[in-house]
Amino acid sequence: MFKQMEIKSASGVYNVEFDHTEFEKVNDFLGESSHFIVDSNLIDLYPVVLQKVISSSNAIIIDASEHSKEITRVLPIIESLLKNGIKRNHTIVAIGGGVIQDITCFISSVLFRGVNWKFVPTTLLAQADSCIGSKSSINLGKNKNILGTFKPPQEILICPAFLKTLDKQEILSGIGEIIKVHVIDGIDSADKVSASYDELLASPTALLGFIERSLYIKKKFIEQDEFDQNIRNIFNYGHSFGHAIESATQFAIPHGIAVTIGMDMANRIAAWRNLISESHYNRMHGVLSKNYEGYKSRDIPLDKLIAALKKDKKNTAAKLVLIMPVGEGAVIQKVEITADNEFVKQCDNFLMSLSE
Ligand code: NAD
Repeated sequence: MFKQMEIKSASGVYNVEFDHTEFEKVNDFLGESSHFIVDSNLIDLYPVVLQKVISSSNAIIIDASEHSKEITRVLPIIESLLKNGIKRNHTIVAIGGGVIQDITCFISSVLFRGVNWKFVPTTLLAQADSCIGSKSSINLGKNKNILGTFKPPQEILICPAFLKTLDKQEILSGIGEIIKVHVIDGIDSADKVSASYDELLASPTALLGFIERSLYIKKKFIEQDEFDQNIRNIFNYGHSFGHAIESATQFAIPHGIAVTIGMDMANRIAAWRNLISESHYNRMHGVLSKNYEGYKSRDIPLDKLIAALKKDKKNTAAKLVLIMPVGEGAVIQKVEITADNEFVKQCDNFLMSLSE
């Protein structure tokens, strides 16, 4: 069991600490912090653990919905911080999942050209993946994650005890990102997560091992390419399709589950285009389709999906830039594809296959 992990970033080293107790480290971590941005659901679920936050006059409580990441909804949060007297030398603590993280990280990087922030991730997705890596992402209308910055937190406290109150769909969403990180690590890691899938759903202890392993794998990439100019790009595996699925369904599908469908779609299209073998597609299809089983019947409109794919920030002027498996080792890498009739037909065929 990890007790802590150091992440090197351009702004210095930051620490990820693990609290393997029932929240004993939370109060010390919150310390004398000046401001809090907190997921509203946690206030009801954890009135004792979050007592310090609840009694603070500088706590901003928000709904962790994708709509809260809309830029027009972020501006009033900045106004509230200013009303609460935030100064450049203050610290904002984010408590919640990826939505609260994205909002707090974005505000922390633009307000006064930068204030410090700390993070207590409370979802599986945030604990296993998003909490490290410095990225913030904010939505503009239907353009998901189109605005963003890079600003690492000062420190992160992971309390796996928070995971006990997550809905099953949020566990599946986190497992989606855990699968992604393991596939990026290579076929052996991908097979390991496939073989442990049922155990992951059933046992918090198994989850913990995979949280630690996912962070360890991601650390290697972000320390080499924090600003996503190069090798880190492959962490967008499943995300171009995933973000397009989220936009096309007006965020009816949780992020990590949309990413799971996105990975299966990337693999399916890669096999149809002879970038990988059918056997590799089949090798991952079992675990991926299990993870999005409950979402197969959701209607994903093709025209909206293609329109959203064309707006992806990685695209060049002429081509879609997708992250796909390629070659015998199914190595995850960047692939440029023209959004021609053949590609649209392949997307359509994949969507049709979901309802079969
Ligand atoms: P979330 O923040 O959307 O929260 C999901 C639900 O879980 C919400 O209803 C929330 O109130 C609830 N919740 C949170 N903690 C809980 C707990 N302990 N018990 C019970 N309920 C709890 O979920 P998420 O999956 O962590 O985040 C998704 C967002 O993260 C997306 O917007 C995605 O774009 C973003 N993201 C960001 C990065 C990054 O690097 N910045 C990486 C991946 C994803």
